[in-house]
Amino acid sequence: MQKDCKCGSTLNIQLRTVQYSKKVHIKNVPIFSCEECEESEVLLDVKEDLTELIKDIDHSNTKHQIFFNEINEFAHLLFVSSEKELIHIPIEEIIEQRINELLDILLLAQYLDDTKWVKETEKRLLQITDQIIYNKKIYKI
Ligand SMILES: [Zn+2]
Repeated sequence: MQKDCKCGSTLNIQLRTVQYSKKVHIKNVPIFSCEECEESEVLLDVKEDLTELIKDIDHSNTKHQIFFNEINEFAHLLFVSSEKELIHIPIEEIIEQRINELLDILLLAQYLDDTKWVKETEKRLLQITDQIIYNKKIYKI
């Protein structure tokens, strides 16, 4: 997945750590970055989840780490597909596996009548369909 940079070079997606208010490190955030001019920007599709996450951060004194790939499906899929042992598997297959996994979780959550868990799983499925399949962006990686 690529995009043109204003310097004429190419922006590539990388999973980066975003530091927030010196105490909070948000890991595995998909960021467009340019090797030529050091331009970088958060992907529009994940901006909303990132903003929500930052809003919910507990501003206590302790330092902490948050894994963005545990919150956002797009980050999760990028993270999974970049793992060495999976790098040879087509991204379409990883997405399909993930959808099946989430559907199983959804069935289990519904069976257990856990409304919060059902909502959370539905949100994740929507992240895949809205951000990834609908836009067909991930296929260009
Ligand atoms: Zn650039």
